[in-house]
Amino acid sequence: MPHNIPLIAGNWKMHGLAQAVPEALSIDAAARKSNARIALFPPATLLDRLSQALIEAGSPIITGGQDCHCEADGAFTGDISAEMLKDAGAGMVILGHSERRHGHHEPCALVAKKVIGALRVGLEPVICIGETLEERLAGETHAVLNRQLGASLPEELTGQVFHVAYEPVWAIGTGHIPTDEQVVDAMVLVKSYLEDRFHGQVTPHVLYGGSVKPDNAAHLLTLDGVGGLLVGGASLKAVDFNRIITAAG
Ligand code: PEP
Repeated sequence: MPHNIPLIAGNWKMHGLAQAVPEALSIDAAARKSNARIALFPPATLLDRLSQALIEAGSPIITGGQDCHCEADGAFTGDISAEMLKDAGAGMVILGHSERRHGHHEPCALVAKKVIGALRVGLEPVICIGETLEERLAGETHAVLNRQLGASLPEELTGQVFHVAYEPVWAIGTGHIPTDEQVVDAMVLVKSYLEDRFHGQVTPHVLYGGSVKPDNAAHLLTLDGVGGLLVGGASLKAVDFNRIITAAG
């Protein structure tokens, strides 16, 4: 994936009923004009519908799941496999989002297994990492990010297309944005971690996520190492997400 093409990803989380599909189609015009790749991660209930509507419209917008199980199928009530996401039209899947790590107690080792599941069917994983406020205040940010990268990224990523999203937990949904230096510091850490471990055999986009808004998106994209944005709340309203897409050029 060329690195001069940013990835702008909208994570709808547990938001969206049927009406969200036509609203999402209204960002298609901006997506077509954009130099960026645009991806939407609707709730699982809308994935098939949204994917079909985008295909019918001939849209370049990619869809993705917000999580997947590591197995292909089985007695796992309530879970969805990577195969099922792919079957519903997904091209990507978010894994290890902090709301899964903290709200559902998902350890890094499970995230790594899910990544292998995603790669099995050719979904591009968007692997999230990020420190809590307590960890940052305790000076543990580097240790936490290195630990999460070490245990959430399986060897199977070698040579594969994937993305890493740095999302400080304290910036998600709070309106608090890290300083430019804090963002760049995390980008440098991720890139040097990947270089040390994979020796140039992986070149993921490294995204920033956490309170991205139409007014700060363009600036965030100018920061060294930022290869795209993972957007939560501001992806829910087409008018806001349109402005973020436009900001990406
Ligand atoms: C997210 O859900 O990944 C996220 C970054 O949310 P928000 O943009 O609302 O902070």
